[in-house]
Amino acid sequence: MSINAHPELPEFDYVRPATLMEASRFLAEHAGEARPLLGGTDIFVRMRDGFYHDKYLVDVKHLDSTDELSYDPQRGLKLGAGVNMNRVMASPMVQAHYALLAEACRSVASYQLRTRATIVGNICNASPAGDTIGACLVLGGVLNVHGVGGYRQEPLATFFRGPGKTVLQPGDIVTSIEFPPAPAGAAGVYIKLGRNTWSDLSIVGVTVYGYADAGRASGYRFQAALASVAPTPLLVPALEEHLASHPINAEAFRQAARLAQAACSPIDDVRGSARYRKAMVRTLTEKALQMTWKKLGN
Ligand SMILES: Cc1cc2nc3c(=O)[nH]c(=O)nc-3n(C[C@H](O)[C@H](O)[C@H](O)COP(=O)(O)OP(=O)(O)OC[C@H]3O[C@@H](n4cnc5c(N)ncnc54)[C@H](O)[C@@H]3O)c2cc1C
Repeated sequence: MSINAHPELPEFDYVRPATLMEASRFLAEHAGEARPLLGGTDIFVRMRDGFYHDKYLVDVKHLDSTDELSYDPQRGLKLGAGVNMNRVMASPMVQAHYALLAEACRSVASYQLRTRATIVGNICNASPAGDTIGACLVLGGVLNVHGVGGYRQEPLATFFRGPGKTVLQPGDIVTSIEFPPAPAGAAGVYIKLGRNTWSDLSIVGVTVYGYADAGRASGYRFQAALASVAPTPLLVPALEEHLASHPINAEAFRQAARLAQAACSPIDDVRGSARYRKAMVRTLTEKALQMTWKKLGN
């Protein structure tokens, strides 16, 4: 594909439905020429660059409870689709119980961008490089989706189908993401390797999350999610199984990092080669596991 030297935003109609059902019906009736709009930080870039050709952008920010950010010790955290990343980071409830989520948001671009960008937009864009997706995966995120048939839930772990592709159908609108209560003492780390410190997508992103768990032979549960090294954001079950069944020590972390490396299938692109990405997955996973272990008080 050639690069357009004079990109500009094409014309489109801005649609602001009064209800979620109106929005879902409009999106379903205009499948292929309408899409939901949150912060627009992905949409406008892709329209300007000629990847999206939608006639209608359907603003879903003000609908139903898309503005909600709430926490309940029994039910956990609920983040409305319209809640921007700065609001997530500033929330004392997020900082106290889901610090990993705040850390992942902090890695996204700049303060200015994060006043528009949302976690749900990051997820629905379905880029393998989405910086907040790993945290949402290991924290057990479940999406509330409104379609023409009403509400349903979609676990994030089975949401992605490929780069830019999800299980969503025409008319579907993600209204919020929910996370179960975080286990006591849980800790996590997000390591983003980019070409510069700010405002670039990751070459490799490694999320690790762990907590003490008497139900596992090792006494701990660790999970890892990888960004930019597969067609979709990637959970690594083999790492989780290894660290559940082996005594936690430096060799166990080294082997777990090898398993993460084996699980990924990166490509060469402008940000880095597949070979470099594979090597970095191993190095950064081991480092993230050690950092998390330390945060757990060991
Ligand atoms: C300068 C710049 C720097 C960036 N840096 C980073 C970075 O460091 N890390 C990173 O991960 N990303 C980065 N991004 C990408 C972008 O900011 C994020 O993906 C952001 O989280 C998208 O959120 P949004 O609310 O703006 O989504 P939008 O652009 O509004 O929407 C994104 C996609 O999701 C769909 N969508 C939106 N809302 C819904 C809904 N409720 N239901 C179903 N589908 C929906 C839209 O139709 C669209 O396809 C950057 C973008 C820019 C312009």
